[in-house]
Amino acid sequence: MTRKIGSRYTAHQILGRGSAGTVWLGEGPEGPVAIKLLREDLASDQELVGRFVQERTALLSLDHARVVGVHDLVVDGNDLALVMDLVRGTDLRTRLDRERRMAPEAAVAIVADVADGLAAAHAAGIVHRDVKPENVLLDMQGPLGPGGAHPALLTDFGVAKLIDSPRRTRATKIIGTPDYLAPEIIEGLPPRAAVDIYALATVLYELLAGFTPFGGGHPGAVLRRHVTETVVPLPGIPEELWQLLVQCLAKAPASRLRASELAARLRELLPLVAGMPPLDVDEPDTEPSPAEEAYEDSAPEPRAAAPRRGAVPLVPGSTSADSNNRDTHTSMRVPGPDELAGGARGTARAPRASGAARPGSAKHRASTRRRRVTLGVAGVVLAAAAGIGVYAASSSDAQPTAPDTSSPTAP
Ligand code: ADP
Repeated sequence: MTRKIGSRYTAHQILGRGSAGTVWLGEGPEGPVAIKLLREDLASDQELVGRFVQERTALLSLDHARVVGVHDLVVDGNDLALVMDLVRGTDLRTRLDRERRMAPEAAVAIVADVADGLAAAHAAGIVHRDVKPENVLLDMQGPLGPGGAHPALLTDFGVAKLIDSPRRTRATKIIGTPDYLAPEIIEGLPPRAAVDIYALATVLYELLAGFTPFGGGHPGAVLRRHVTETVVPLPGIPEELWQLLVQCLAKAPASRLRASELAARLRELLPLVAGMPPLDVDEPDTEPSPAEEAYEDSAPEPRAAAPRRGAVPLVPGSTSADSNNRDTHTSMRVPGPDELAGGARGTARAPRASGAARPGSAKHRASTRRRRVTLGVAGVVLAAAAGIGVYAASSSDAQPTAPDTSSPTAP
């Protein structure tokens, strides 16, 4: 199966499917490439195509060893494609699914790599907005680093932002992945670089623990935990590493470290965690509160083949059937302050020591399945709407690219 993409690229075989499209192994004038072909409904959206082309300069200029480079953006007939560096390896989600928890040394080394990539992006004024294990690729052909970790590269820069156009998402919707969403986004503030630090700290916690600090249960409950609950320590984690995590998971964006500081601090901690085995923790119980149960009981069970974890599609209107099997994005209304405050328990779920009793785990599994629904509660928060409106304006200001509707590869 071979298809032509623009005049310069040929796609040979599908590498994988994501929420925004399909990634192909392809060939270009300079050799093998990965080609992300955006879904047809996205490619036929004229506004999105315009934004796509506008973002071209920013995306193409991001050149860093820890970022999957975008070589070209192709707008050709019905095709809309990003031509990227080919990474021969796997993504971090696949690795985590296999290992469940990683040894701290490898986890810290991988996250330090991603923090380096984020530092370069932030310096260029680009916020990723969707940092999660699915968007970290491990280069299996690269040299082994601390803890036997392969070099990690961050990918999918700009894709969340491209799709998050005001018209597609409307002012009161949140686009993102519930488990990794910074509290300020949930409260309707514009997403700045600190949202990526929060998401990356969440990834580090997940690599160490095998679960995210605020995940579990209904997406609305996950959002509320981000805003109202504090993270509880992981048994056996070295204190300095824990303090770093706590700082980067701070509710106040200004309290979090910058990406370059985070990378440096993580590398300083590598000798401390060298040779440590994975932490001995079990997933906490996630009994829904009565309010969460009310949400869940009113939400329909999804019928399509269920994705592995989390939520409904990134792109409003798409379904899990036309999305990938690891879609963890959600699109939901910004909850009001009362909803966020309601039922707050003060601290996040406490991780249990390995082997401890696990009451209600069947119920937990059922509630986890039901995370794949859209939050269906009433009311709109004007302040939040204004916040996202401000973001929409500021984010288009952030990229100093002149509107340009020409295509680099169109005939
Ligand atoms: P997601 O929406 O889950 O982030 P993507 O659309 O980015 O997924 O990628 C889908 C699949 O294609 C992933 O499994 C990933 O491993 C693979 N892939 C994505 N980008 C590249 C790349 N640059 N090189 C090699 N494989 C890639």
